[in-house]
Amino acid sequence: MFDTICSIATTLGVGAISIIRVSGKEAISIVNNIFKGKDLEKVESHTIHYGHIVYEEKVIDEVLVSVMKAPKTYTTEDVVEINCHGGIQTTNKILEILLLNGCRQAEAGEFTKRAFLNGRIDLMEAEAVMDLINSQNDLARQIAINELQGYGSNLIKKLREDLINIISNIEVNIDYPEYEDIYEVTINDLKDKINDIKEKLEKIVKEYEDEKIIKDGITTVIIGRPNVGKSSLLNRLLNSNKAIVTDIPGTTRDIVEGNIMINGINLNIIDTAGIRESTDLVEQIGVKKSLDIIKNADLILLLLNNNQPLSKEDLDLFNKVKDKTSIIVVNKNDLEKRIDLSSLETNNIVYINTLTNEGIIPLKEKIAELFNLEKIMTKDFNYITSARQIAKIKECLNLISDIEMGIDNNVDLDLLELDLRHIWENLGNIIGESYDEELLDELFSKFCVGK
Ligand code: GDP
Repeated sequence: MFDTICSIATTLGVGAISIIRVSGKEAISIVNNIFKGKDLEKVESHTIHYGHIVYEEKVIDEVLVSVMKAPKTYTTEDVVEINCHGGIQTTNKILEILLLNGCRQAEAGEFTKRAFLNGRIDLMEAEAVMDLINSQNDLARQIAINELQGYGSNLIKKLREDLINIISNIEVNIDYPEYEDIYEVTINDLKDKINDIKEKLEKIVKEYEDEKIIKDGITTVIIGRPNVGKSSLLNRLLNSNKAIVTDIPGTTRDIVEGNIMINGINLNIIDTAGIRESTDLVEQIGVKKSLDIIKNADLILLLLNNNQPLSKEDLDLFNKVKDKTSIIVVNKNDLEKRIDLSSLETNNIVYINTLTNEGIIPLKEKIAELFNLEKIMTKDFNYITSARQIAKIKECLNLISDIEMGIDNNVDLDLLELDLRHIWENLGNIIGESYDEELLDELFSKFCVGK
């Protein structure tokens, strides 16, 4: 049995109402001690009561208190929620009084962690809670709510059931070795069934890339020589004056960021410091940072100057990014054309002029085309959305390769069965059938306090 925890569940700031959540076996009695109104220990479950929070005979606030008795609650424990007047002072004061009366301040995600540890939701569903809170667009929200309702977990559970059937089949066959052709029959059957599981897992991995884009957006990096117009492009895209625009090369010393939406998907744009050899230390740090960011980007916008011939630096940059998804953006289209792009092997070229708005819409259309954004938004997803979950799926696919190799090399059935069991366990880890404390701590630490 856990101790009783409390936390502010709403954003701490000035607002109409704040909610303070209490969960644990003492939840009702602790709140009852500081509540003047009905005796909360005697009320029905899932009821709401008007009264006052009173401390040292002083009224602290006029509140509504919801009483939800175990087990049909968020954590499966007794839960009380105090709806008080919004505002930092009142909310903090009530929290402080609860702490003085025997509650412990909840850690980040501890309410959801309890819901998991008490068996109300599985680990995938717990992760979906966080996805739901953090969703950046409507589709990400839909995927998260479906995951929370168990779509993803059911998919994994079904795969585990299929595996158990295969494993028990193998065991029956191992137990009756007197039939000579048994290896042959079992192996052929295994090949088909394992192939079916492999296809399902591969589909999950493939769709994850699109889901990642929906969830996290497209990390887009603007690169190019100093003075080609990177900051101007960022400002055009963001419709703001966020980046400092000057005609002194190397002005954007650090990384400037912003967000826009294209077809409902978030584009996280980063404007880098001018990448070039430099003796200026500050600028060198910026350059190193830029190269790191390029490595992790989903999309690179390489900016060139229409008014200048292609330089060695331009070509170096092109070679750095040519294996990544990138668009050559030729800026200063208003000036005389002095650039020749015939040596660059790419079809992704857009001409722009950041002094006007010319080329900005075609650029956005090109991005939508490269990431298939129109199709993504109408796809039916698998609801496997976290890097942790997908890493486990990839481990399963590696094990399937081992099994396939084993089959080709006439490996004993009991060895193949061992690999199948590992796959079954890995899938179990996804939904939290087994887990280690460290994983849980890391996972729930990303939650907000009060959830
Ligand atoms: P950065 O160093 O790559 O970030 O370049 P900036 O955005 O600071 O722009 C450098 C200079 O080029 C500024 O003086 C801008 O006004 C100018 N500039 C930017 N875009 C254009 C353009 O499309 N046409 C012309 N003629 N000048 C531009």
